[in-house]
Amino acid sequence: PALEYEQLRRKIETHARELSYFTTDQLNKISEKLSDADDKLKWKNVIERFGDQSRVLLASIRNITNVDGYQTWREHEHRSLSKLMQARLKYLQNPVTPCTDVKRFTCDINKGCGYGCEIHHAIHCFHIAYALGRPMILQSSGWRYNPSGFDQIFQPPSLNCNKSMASGASSWNTYKTADVVKIPLIDDIHPRTEFMPMSIPADISERLIRLYGNPFAWFTGQLMKYLLRPQDWLMEFMKKKFEQIKFETPIVGIHVRRTDKVGTEAAFHDISEYMRHVEDYYITYQYQNPNSKFTKRVYLATDDPSVFNDARTKYPDYVFYGDTVVAQSAQLNTRYGTESLKGVLLDIHFLSLSDYLVCTFSSQVCRVAYEIMQQRVIDGAWRVQPLDDVYYFGGQNPHNQRAVISHKAIWPNEFSFERDHIIGTEGNHWNGFSKGSDKTNGQSGLYPSYKAEEIVNIGEMYTYPEIQI
Ligand code: GDP
Repeated sequence: PALEYEQLRRKIETHARELSYFTTDQLNKISEKLSDADDKLKWKNVIERFGDQSRVLLASIRNITNVDGYQTWREHEHRSLSKLMQARLKYLQNPVTPCTDVKRFTCDINKGCGYGCEIHHAIHCFHIAYALGRPMILQSSGWRYNPSGFDQIFQPPSLNCNKSMASGASSWNTYKTADVVKIPLIDDIHPRTEFMPMSIPADISERLIRLYGNPFAWFTGQLMKYLLRPQDWLMEFMKKKFEQIKFETPIVGIHVRRTDKVGTEAAFHDISEYMRHVEDYYITYQYQNPNSKFTKRVYLATDDPSVFNDARTKYPDYVFYGDTVVAQSAQLNTRYGTESLKGVLLDIHFLSLSDYLVCTFSSQVCRVAYEIMQQRVIDGAWRVQPLDDVYYFGGQNPHNQRAVISHKAIWPNEFSFERDHIIGTEGNHWNGFSKGSDKTNGQSGLYPSYKAEEIVNIGEMYTYPEIQI
């Protein structure tokens, strides 16, 4: 299929959703102001009818790939891109000449934050290693999630480069010349390089942009696929749990992040905010599959054990998978250590196996699950409804969009722009508006989300000519 066809198909999903966000929000605002009971009822019917028509539209859009004749190609391309990436990463991490003879990087997982945060730190290092074609040696002794180290949980990132070969590492500013360089935290890298997140490798960028709605999330998912290859015991553990809970699809994954996050880095979100979108997903799913009979399943991951009771009481027609014991181990006072690690790995695993995610992208747990999900689903970019942030990588280079339709400000706090202006985006309010600033005219504030589209960053990276598949 042509690049333009695939992009247009995805664009229609995005536009339908933006239309629905905007209109629903505006209709609700009008309804809230009504005082007459009859008017209120009438308006409620309008809102419900609009919502239902939106879902019918989305169902049709989501079914296009079943009938357009390109799905076999997509599946093939999805598999071959993953095969290529994994072969490159294996080659990268296991140099044919002795490791001491090659330029290499070292990276310490111990950032002193949560699992998702520490994994993203390691992935930022791995991204640089990939981009420059030098193996990464991961330091992990004293890791707060498993003090004996990463390699007990996951397979060693390299079979012939070990920790002793990371000694005497130089600092980042010598990365072009020194033999061993320690990669610092992403925020400590100055000047920025264009190959850092959210860049994708230039040499395969056309293939990625054609197949994936979020090529960077896919790329990150591939780095994780290699780095987080489970040890046999972990694989067994996951398999057992899978059978125990009788994991079945369709299933929607929700991640309810509470405890230390609420009020510091994120707002409190009631279970109803998640379930509204879960309900939407299932009605749409039914429209997509009119003859299918299914149980409405939700995989619930949370660090607040009370959410289980709340969810099960308020939504009796749903089956909730998930584990209060895991949630207990996820609370701040019990968070670190191997038991808690097993819990978060389990939750991320099942979230990533879900058909759709509803979660706060401010949480790294949710972003890791989404990234891992991209390994499995073809074009999984749309399979999420974030409740707060848009997708991002912490410490990323500027996140830009391009104005595709010019705009004259009419709403309060809006700014005007011309087509082709570059807009630095700071978030989508999921009500039709995004927040950002126009890099061309210097204005900032709100803008209609549907008038801008994502710019994919493309970085010149090592091209792995040694790998021919
Ligand atoms: P963030 O703080 O939400 O951005 O994500 P981090 O992964 O950096 O830190 C949060 C940590 O809290 C996780 O790594 C887990 O240890 C724990 N946690 C948060 N949410 C969950 C959850 O849903 N399930 C489990 N098992 N642990 C969680």
